[in-house]
Amino acid sequence: MSDTIVPRGTFSLEELEELLLGRWPGGDAALAARARQVMADEVGEEVRLRGLLEFSNRCTSDCYYCGIRRSSRSDDQGAPLVRFDLSEEAILEGARLCLQEGYGSMTLQAGERRDRPFIDFVEGVLRRIKEETVTPDLPRGLGITLSVGEQTRETYRRFFDAGAHRYLLRVETSNPRLFARLHPPEQPLERRLQALEDLRAEGFQVGTGVMIGIPGQTSRDLARDIMFFREIDADMIGMGPYIEAAGSAREEMHRQGLLPDTSGAERLRLSLRMIAATRLVLRDVNIAAATALQALSPTGREQGLAFGANVLMPIVTPGGQRRAYQLYQGKPCVEETARECISCTPRRAAWARRPVSYHSWGDAPHARRK
Ligand code: SAM
Repeated sequence: MSDTIVPRGTFSLEELEELLLGRWPGGDAALAARARQVMADEVGEEVRLRGLLEFSNRCTSDCYYCGIRRSSRSDDQGAPLVRFDLSEEAILEGARLCLQEGYGSMTLQAGERRDRPFIDFVEGVLRRIKEETVTPDLPRGLGITLSVGEQTRETYRRFFDAGAHRYLLRVETSNPRLFARLHPPEQPLERRLQALEDLRAEGFQVGTGVMIGIPGQTSRDLARDIMFFREIDADMIGMGPYIEAAGSAREEMHRQGLLPDTSGAERLRLSLRMIAATRLVLRDVNIAAATALQALSPTGREQGLAFGANVLMPIVTPGGQRRAYQLYQGKPCVEETARECISCTPRRAAWARRPVSYHSWGDAPHARRK
């Protein structure tokens, strides 16, 4: 497999599989170097920042792998799982912090709810953030990525009109059989796919991604996932390793036969190859070095940058709520404060020898070219 025989960006499923199995000529270091070159050519070396604010852990979904699933009762330390909602003021505080630190963007994430009060609340918060974060550098306020799961097309329209312009909704896996093993029957893959289509139709820049190292997931599945990203013309990718769920959700994972069955080191390696492979195929999209990488290695996110990722999402969720948003075991930064996460972010970029981009939305060139 080499660039002399593989035209730019076109890989067959078999070639991607080989790559994911670690058979890139020259090994993973050469793969990282190649991905990084493509990244430099297509999106630049700069790391783009989004402050990640997790504003509620209430969820109506029951994904078997997730620590904040509807049926979750206890946290990682066996204590009852406290469900929380940040107030509008607390969310605005997070937005101001992002602004102060020169982040041009933030990501608002929460569990999934489709009730009217929640939708109204999110819409109102988006409008206030937009009104209150206009600066000379950001004449349209902070860039906002929203990640609140599957919603109706009308809801997506309301969120877009209120000022969110990017949306992150992972497909988790594009293999229908695997998706069905990970989710209860009332959460079909078709609805997820419809939601991704609706987001695009309403004007969002669409981000998706998968979990890597799910039991039963093959390198062929992962290669197909990358083709799926291309098929839906994704603008951003956020993906990371599959990890043992936190708290009582771990027991459900066990009941469903879904505990990870490969080592953390293997899942990390596979995740890094997925980042590189996605960069080689999709080229000019934004790819996040996801927080979950750091659950498997203290330098996981830095390694993600070295394999072609170009987005970091420092957590700005208030310290007091972090333990209650523990999706999986070993989620990093649960003991830290927003300030601490902010101060360690430039260090991560520097470790990967990368400059940081401040005061801009940092949209993917892919989205701008459409
Ligand atoms: N409710 C929104 C949604 O479903 O898109 C956003 C919140 S959801 C908790 C965010 C992401 O966490 C999911 O898309 C999933 O990939 C990830 N996640 C949850 N449990 C995980 C686990 N055990 N290992 C790795 N990632 C996990």
